[in-house]
Amino acid sequence: MSKRGIFYPLGTAQAEELALVAGLKPAIRQRLSGRGSDAQRRRLERLGYACHVLHKGDTHTFVAAADPARAEAILRLDLAALRPGFEGEGLDEVLEHGRLLGYPDCCARTFAFSLVERGAGTLPACRAALAATPGPLAPRLNVVEPLVFHYLPWIPCRFDCPPSRAYADHLAALIARRYPVFVNKVDYALAAHRLVVDEGVQLSLTGVWRGDTLVVDRVWDTADDRRVGTPYPPDRAARAGDLVGRVAARRLVTVDGHRLLLRRELALESEALALFPFGGAPIAA
Ligand SMILES: [Zn+2]
Repeated sequence: MSKRGIFYPLGTAQAEELALVAGLKPAIRQRLSGRGSDAQRRRLERLGYACHVLHKGDTHTFVAAADPARAEAILRLDLAALRPGFEGEGLDEVLEHGRLLGYPDCCARTFAFSLVERGAGTLPACRAALAATPGPLAPRLNVVEPLVFHYLPWIPCRFDCPPSRAYADHLAALIARRYPVFVNKVDYALAAHRLVVDEGVQLSLTGVWRGDTLVVDRVWDTADDRRVGTPYPPDRAARAGDLVGRVAARRLVTVDGHRLLLRRELALESEALALFPFGGAPIAA
């Protein structure tokens, strides 16, 4: 049973458009399906932005920039990345791609690797960002569930990356001028600890640490924080719902490598298992 709690007056793509128009970013590049970008394209063309759409199957890539040369350069690099056999030899090109889009240099590198390893999904890059973060994670950099609203249109190099934080805070302030309740709710959702079970199931948790164990006071299916109407395959919803029930009953969550322990008993094993402590790091013993 879905309990979507956040009303979305705008989505991640519209937030990025807001950042473009406010001058926080020189260009946008969005992967969309169906006719999602038609209205956006008309709106941005009226404002004088150069817009391009690159079609591939049912998805398309929408690019817009104030500078037409920049928009064309981004499109050229997107075409290059679609070339069969495109591998690491394109890394410099892809780094340039991220820079043209206004990604911080440190994060453009992460983006480059994610393009080279296309199809791997966002999780490997998020795990690398977690491993690279020495201290507390900044909740506004939480992009771990791509279908939950997030401020960054890129995967940060670390979850405390300073230029990413500056961008996210600036964008949040812009959105809060019109939609303060939405920003509060999104900030709360992104600041929960995130338990990733696999590509299909994530749980959000609040609680306090006792050593390496999280003592949970609230747990919910992260998909509940998506926009109302976002498709959710019933088997994933059922798996997530089952795990929410077990975590709520046992309350003590420990991640030990690929093993999830509930009250110190093995609950499941998953290669992709990870706990992102967006709600605050455990205190080192
Ligand atoms: Zn960075």
